[in-house]
Amino acid sequence: MAEAYDPGNIFAKILRGEIPSHRVYEDDAIVAFMDVMPQGAGHTLVVPKAPSRNMLDADPATLGPLFAVVQKIAVAVKKAFNADGVTVMQFNEPASGQTVYHLHVHVVPRFEGVPLKPHSGQMEKPEVLAENAGKIRAALGG
Ligand code: 5GP
Repeated sequence: MAEAYDPGNIFAKILRGEIPSHRVYEDDAIVAFMDVMPQGAGHTLVVPKAPSRNMLDADPATLGPLFAVVQKIAVAVKKAFNADGVTVMQFNEPASGQTVYHLHVHVVPRFEGVPLKPHSGQMEKPEVLAENAGKIRAALGG
């Protein structure tokens, strides 16, 4: 039996506007913002507003719109950072590496020969996150 969704998780707080984030995209159902401990410049998280711990307990109706936005963000980060590729990741439960228990998808621009930095590693400076968010917003708009 899966554990219950905890509305006190950090992404729920971000969605409610209780703690700040560098947002790049929002619609009725989905928000995308910068990961504070990026595994590469431009690492973005795409988060449905509907509450679920992860993909295992999500309403299947959430997943189609979520992945449509993941695609939009993947195209935008590739353009914004002139990347060679994009890694998309999604973790379910601690054994898989999940650390925040509200469904989210990682979108990370990739460059030939450059490895990913560690998951949940070092905090990025707010000014760098703000600058990167601006680049992604510009790519989404253009
Ligand atoms: P997970 O391991 O659950 O798939 O990923 C959680 C991600 O959330 C990690 O990449 C981590 O760096 C990021 N993260 C943790 N706390 C915060 C936060 O307060 N704000 C933002 N924007 N990202 C966070």
